Formats: sequence, C-alpha cells, structure tokens
Amino acid sequence: MTRNNQKIRFFRQRIPSFACQPGCHDCCGPVTASSEEMAHLPVKTAAEHARALAELNCPHLGEKGCQVYTERPLICRLFGTTPRLVCPNGKRPANYIAPGVEQQIYQFFSETRQLLL
Ligand code: SF4
Ligand code: SF4
Repeated sequence: MTRNNQKIRFFRQRIPSFACQPGCHDCCGPVTASSEEMAHLPVKTAAEHARALAELNCPHLGEKGCQVYTERPLICRLFGTTPRLVCPNGKRPANYIAPGVEQQIYQFFSETRQLLL
C-alpha cells in the first residue's frame, strides 16, 4: 500500500460518521480528490463531467444519492464533521473531528495533486 493510501485509510478511520437527513445531498457539488481515491471511482465520460459541472454538480450523484458512497472522497466525508464545514441542515456527529486530524487532512490536500471528480 502506498504512503498516500495509508494516509487516506488513516483519515477515513478518524473522520466521525453521523446520520444525514434522509435523501439529502445538499452538500454535493464539484469536488476534488487525490489520484489514489480517483482510482477507486468509476470513470465518467467527458460529456458526463461537462454535464455535471454545468449544473455545479458531482458526476457520481444519482437519483438515489451518492453512487460511490463507500469510496467517496475525503472532502465528502469531512463535510459536517467540523465547524469549518457545517451542515446547512444541522446534522453533525456527537463530537467534531479532532482538530489535529483535520489539519493533517488539509495538509494532505495541499501536498497531493487534487483532481476534479
Ligand atoms: S451533511 Fe448535511 S447537507 Fe450534506 S448530505 Fe448530510 S444532511 Fe445533507
Ligand atoms: S462523491 Fe458522492 S458524496 Fe461526494 S460530492 Fe459526489 S455524490 Fe456527493
């Protein structure tokens, strides 16, 4: 496993989970991810990318929500778990993410090439 994959696994284990408003995908939109995360996502055509971007949407958002939920990028997981990315519907985990881990995630974002989904 590469160093980046180890970091992604480390972060995934430390981002708190919480129950969203059923059916909600208000925080989905154009997001980026590392190439390691992209490697686990289905490839979308240029037309699908263009259509999603034109609507400020994510190409993996389907009628029933996220189609890649178990492999969704770190930024999708982080949303709602920190006071910096507050859920507009008031959903949150009992405890926000540890500030040190959050900082390490932002550091990871700045050190890795991030690609638009
Ligand atoms: S975090 Fe909030 S805005 Fe995002 S899907 Fe969950 S309930 Fe909706
Ligand atoms: S990957 Fe899933 S959770 Fe993330 S923005 Fe796209 S549809 Fe939403």
